[in-house]
Amino acid sequence: MIKIIDDLLTVNPYSRTGKRVAEVKTIVLHWTAMPQQSTKDTRDYYEGLKLVKPADTAVYASAHYIVRDSEIRRCIPENEVAFHCGAAYPYKDGTTQVYTDIARQKLGKYCMSPLSNSPNNCSIGIEMSPIDSIGHYSYDTWHQSQLLVLTLLKQFSLKPIDIMYHSQIVGKIKKQCPKLFVEHEDEFNRFVSELATLKI
Ligand SMILES: [Zn+2]
Repeated sequence: MIKIIDDLLTVNPYSRTGKRVAEVKTIVLHWTAMPQQSTKDTRDYYEGLKLVKPADTAVYASAHYIVRDSEIRRCIPENEVAFHCGAAYPYKDGTTQVYTDIARQKLGKYCMSPLSNSPNNCSIGIEMSPIDSIGHYSYDTWHQSQLLVLTLLKQFSLKPIDIMYHSQIVGKIKKQCPKLFVEHEDEFNRFVSELATLKI
C-alpha cells in the first residue's frame, strides 16, 4: 500500500483551475528537471504561479503527483485537470500539428484541436524528481513511482500500454521530458515492463 501526502494546491488559474477531467485515458510521466528538489518545493512552485505578475509572463504548470524517494505528494485530485502535457506550439518545426502522431493515435480528440481540447483533459500527470541533471532517479523514486502508476492503472481500468511520457505527446524536439526516457527509451520500457513483477 503506498502512502500519499495530500497537499492540494489552492484553486487558481495557473495551476489548478478546478475543471474536471473528461475521462482518464493515460498516465503521463515527467521529470521535474530540478535535481534533488523536494516534493514540497515543487508543489510550492506550482502554488506560487498564482502570484500576481505581468500577464505576458504567466506560467501555467502543475501535475497531480510529485514523487521523490519514498514521498508521494498529491497536488491535484485525479478528477481535476492539471497543466502538465498541453502545448501551444507545433511538435516540430515546419509543421502546424501540435501533438505527435502517437498522441493523436492514442488520445484521439484530445490531441486534434489544440484550441478547444488538450491531452490535459484526459490524463494524470506524475512528476518524478531526479537525483542529477542527466535525469537518473533514486531506487525509491523509481519504485514508488511504479507503485503509484500501478495504483492509478487499476483505479482507472487502464493497461501498461496506456502509460506515456511527456515528450511522446508534445514531441522530443521541443520538450525533453523526462530526459532519461527521451535519451534512453529502453529505460522507459524497463519502467513499464517491471510493473508486471510488482504487487500493490
Ligand atoms: Zn513534462
